[in-house]
Amino acid sequence: MADIMKVKTIKKRLKTIPNLPDYGKFCKTFKWTDAKKDVEWVDNRINAAYNAVDKHVKTWRKNKVALYWISETDEKKFTFFELHKLSNKFANVLKKLGIKKGDRVFIFLPRVPELYVSFLGTLKTGAIAGTMFAAFGSKALEDRLGDSGAKVLITNTELKSRVYEAKKNLPELKHIIIIDVDKPKISGEISYKAAMEKASDKFVAKQMHPEDYAFMLYTSGTTGRPKGVMHAHVAIIQEHATAKWVLDLKDDDVYWCTADPGWVTGIAYGILGSWSNGASSVVYEGRFEPEKWYDIIEKYRVTVWYTAPTAIRMLMRAGLKATRKYDFSSLRHICSVGEPLNPEPIFWGMKAFGLPFHDNWWQTETGGILIANYPCMDIRAGSMGKPIPGIKAAIVDDNGKKLGPHMEGNLAIIPPWPSMMRKIWKNEKKYKSYFMGKYYISGDRAWTDKDGYFWFIGRADDVIKTAGERVGPFEVESALIEHHAIAEAGVIGKPDPLRGEIIKAFIVLKVGFKPSKALEEDIKVFIKKRLAGHAYPREIEFMVALPKTQSGKIMRRMLKAKELGLPIGDTSTLEKY
Ligand code: ATP
Ligand code: MG
Repeated sequence: MADIMKVKTIKKRLKTIPNLPDYGKFCKTFKWTDAKKDVEWVDNRINAAYNAVDKHVKTWRKNKVALYWISETDEKKFTFFELHKLSNKFANVLKKLGIKKGDRVFIFLPRVPELYVSFLGTLKTGAIAGTMFAAFGSKALEDRLGDSGAKVLITNTELKSRVYEAKKNLPELKHIIIIDVDKPKISGEISYKAAMEKASDKFVAKQMHPEDYAFMLYTSGTTGRPKGVMHAHVAIIQEHATAKWVLDLKDDDVYWCTADPGWVTGIAYGILGSWSNGASSVVYEGRFEPEKWYDIIEKYRVTVWYTAPTAIRMLMRAGLKATRKYDFSSLRHICSVGEPLNPEPIFWGMKAFGLPFHDNWWQTETGGILIANYPCMDIRAGSMGKPIPGIKAAIVDDNGKKLGPHMEGNLAIIPPWPSMMRKIWKNEKKYKSYFMGKYYISGDRAWTDKDGYFWFIGRADDVIKTAGERVGPFEVESALIEHHAIAEAGVIGKPDPLRGEIIKAFIVLKVGFKPSKALEEDIKVFIKKRLAGHAYPREIEFMVALPKTQSGKIMRRMLKAKELGLPIGDTSTLEKY
């Protein structure tokens, strides 16, 4: 299977010297103890929020813009000093409520400045922050707030009704801080504004034991019920290092991470790693609109952009023409994460922005980027790149035996690494199930080429076994979206008495195309020519949209459950579609 795709290499021509100029050479001598020195410690203790904001206040960055906040109607700027003072105030608000180290403080807000302030403030007190997508319904909230036993929730008037629907089942939730009311009428509710006004802007961030928890986050729920993943303050070492090596953040950058902090990317690279590097960051709170996104890049002179395959495919759907009205000359480095990045969007990126997207791979559980394409390294389109310095990744069989190049197996990593999850909240059994022998098993299937590039095949559960051959949904989907009429595709294995499974493709067409038998045939022929004969979808179903998580991942398990008439399972993270 590993060889079906024809590899295209993108040679790099760099205008600036990257933070990681020579990947191979650096890896040879690198040790995590080196990266440890790049973040700030106080008497062998550490605080991730202190590293993101407070440490800059002692330097020239004090009055540098940390946050360019943009909504559909408004724009605001916050310097590191302002964020420092606001998060100090919030830490004092929590202190007054008696919040202590280890208590869980959850945030249920759209991407407003209060989200960032309360996240940082929570970490400064030693409490554990949790984030939830503003689109979550009451069931998703109940699961997360109930499981975590959160004591405090920060939300707004619009969202709070969903919390109240679940409130009777949340005995541990004591305080609800509302950001947009002056005088709450319900007992247990607190006005953010009033509390912040009264609070002092002086607070000394608690320096923590490196292993103390900083935040917890539930996984995306793509493959099943979300798991509560715990991350320690010491993860800042890796968030910092990878933001430097992979995102290549430098002091004159304007950086835009499009991920919501309800998803791990929005925390590790939208708050902690990016600010720890002192980057001026853009946050956009508003509907997805290609032209609005282009406008932001142009207006704010964004230099480094970190986004996701779904967003890129949506931009592609809007067409190249829409990109031509804008000036993207500020961009110098663009990256993608969260789902496999098919080659097609990489080449489209080169046409639209003059740059290829750099794919990288990681998980909520890994806490930070583990495999990446670096600015200094040629891109093999469709590959996730190579392990970050300090990480040993391997392909292993189901017994934990290492496999050689070009063999499909489990993508596995040798622990530990600084941002590795410390546990799954209240589920030791689940935590243990990730490990086999000396390896952490990711749940993804992949292969390596002889030069050490890693190639994604699919989630372990999604790999299709058809007529004795194994086929990864990724390669079929990648080939499908090369077809001129296809915008998005999700592929599953459908049980078949003759072939074990057949490949079924769910397809969303580009604007201007209509489903038809002729188009279906054309697509089948197209794939047969592009991939091996066995890898074409025998069944095609046209859809208006694919089911996705809030973080934009195609939920193939839902496509499969629907197809087979099985229970749909946990849908708490399902995007409305
Ligand atoms: P759940 O664990 O609840 O099913 P999830 O795995 O989607 O949800 P995340 O931790 O947000 O939750 O996502 C990690 C997964 O996303 C990876 O295991 C992988 O399947 C996919 N992924 C992330 N980045 C990439 C990438 N660059 N290429 C391919 N897949 C990726
Ligand atoms: Mg997962």
